[in-house]
Amino acid sequence: MTGATERPRVQLALPRSLADPAGAAEIEVDALTVGEALAELARLRPELAPRLLGRDGRLLSAVAVYLRGQDVRELSGLATPLSSRDRLELVPALSGGDGPAPEPRAFRPEELARYGRHLVLPEVGPEGQRRLAASRVLLVGLGGLGAPAALYLAAAGVGELGLADFADVQTSNLQRQVLYTTADVGRPKVEAAADRLAALNPGVRLVRHPERLDRTNALEVVRRYDVVLDGSDNFPTRYLVNDACVLAGVPDVFGSVYRFEGQVSVFDARHGPCYRCLFPEPPPPDAVPSCADGGVLGVLPGLVGLLQATETLKLLLGVGRPLRGRLLLVDGLDLGFRELALTKAADCPVCSAAPTITELIDYEAFCGVAVGDDDAAAVGAVELRGLLEAASPPLLLDVRSREEYDLGHLPRARSVPLEALAEHLEELGQAGSVVTYCSGGTRSSQASRRLRDVGFRRVRRLSGGFEGWVEAGGPVTTGPGAD
Ligand SMILES: [Zn+2]
Repeated sequence: MTGATERPRVQLALPRSLADPAGAAEIEVDALTVGEALAELARLRPELAPRLLGRDGRLLSAVAVYLRGQDVRELSGLATPLSSRDRLELVPALSGGDGPAPEPRAFRPEELARYGRHLVLPEVGPEGQRRLAASRVLLVGLGGLGAPAALYLAAAGVGELGLADFADVQTSNLQRQVLYTTADVGRPKVEAAADRLAALNPGVRLVRHPERLDRTNALEVVRRYDVVLDGSDNFPTRYLVNDACVLAGVPDVFGSVYRFEGQVSVFDARHGPCYRCLFPEPPPPDAVPSCADGGVLGVLPGLVGLLQATETLKLLLGVGRPLRGRLLLVDGLDLGFRELALTKAADCPVCSAAPTITELIDYEAFCGVAVGDDDAAAVGAVELRGLLEAASPPLLLDVRSREEYDLGHLPRARSVPLEALAEHLEELGQAGSVVTYCSGGTRSSQASRRLRDVGFRRVRRLSGGFEGWVEAGGPVTTGPGAD
């Protein structure tokens, strides 16, 4: 017998909300394991016990415990061994849940009925439902990802939903953006979405953000919310949302889709990597095709958007294991899910100890999207119709694939798929002025740039592309046309 094992002395760092009335946020205890340290904390501060450990002795998920920068759930949980001078950090799982649980209030009969399936769930229950009612979620983008997420978050009783989108509903949205009906085409998305969500759950406060989020306003908007659900479809917005979330200390529930594939993660720089840790810089402009160009199976964003909604509710409730430091890859064709571990980059430009980005920047320029230049070289559908009826109309180049062209194109447009553009430069040399178009605008921007690079002076592209042309009631020819 060598007697009792010597217990190392460790530090316990408490968040503000768990500090003692005198404000002390550090406690020293002697413990061999994380479980012993927490039991010792519960003995010294019995009022904290119900917030740390369940009746069965397991660690409650409303508080995360970190040891050397890692969540102990990812180590050996309560059995994780401690060494002398270790420092355990207790972190509330939820930004908005930093404070005490919301003031208990009686549910109205209508709420008891509406949320009955939540109220009987031990992981939600009355306290969780009150937590949801006290929560605020910002939806950036009300498209394929944001639309299904918004419906479920409103149905779940999240107290406030911020709706950020500056687009109008288009016919091409209806294949997957289930928030909208055919009658909504042409209406601003924030308005159509607010009507639909209010009809679903009048108890949810809906805050409209119809302005384009950029460096001047994003931080102010993001700060109002507990969680941001990023349903954007472009790189400038994605980096903007990431950086604003890092600077504001708000978790960013990320999702993206293309064709049959999706990605989901929770970026929360306070406890793990951010989007820039994974991708410090965007791909070159136009290197990644958009869904307008490449297509997307309609249900795929629904699937990914609901995974984002699931993670959002978990964060708000402080239950389960968030998808932090993990990238979930969804393959809709095989119907398989894979997971990659993500680590915080020591040299991340925005979330590392020595960041180079300390305020929001110009994200269009950062992503190489030359907005001003491109806008000057664009022509709208109405103007183009006038030009095509003039005495010397521009040469109209359809740079989509041959299959897309055959399904329907602008009258008298010539099919030159972007990949084949180089082979046709010589014969195009005679054209006076050229207007390029694709489905949305990505490929036509690229085509216009290439034509300008080889000396074409009068090149413009159809803004809004073929979809915008159809939306504006422009005539369409089907079947093979002029080459
Ligand atoms: Zn980072």
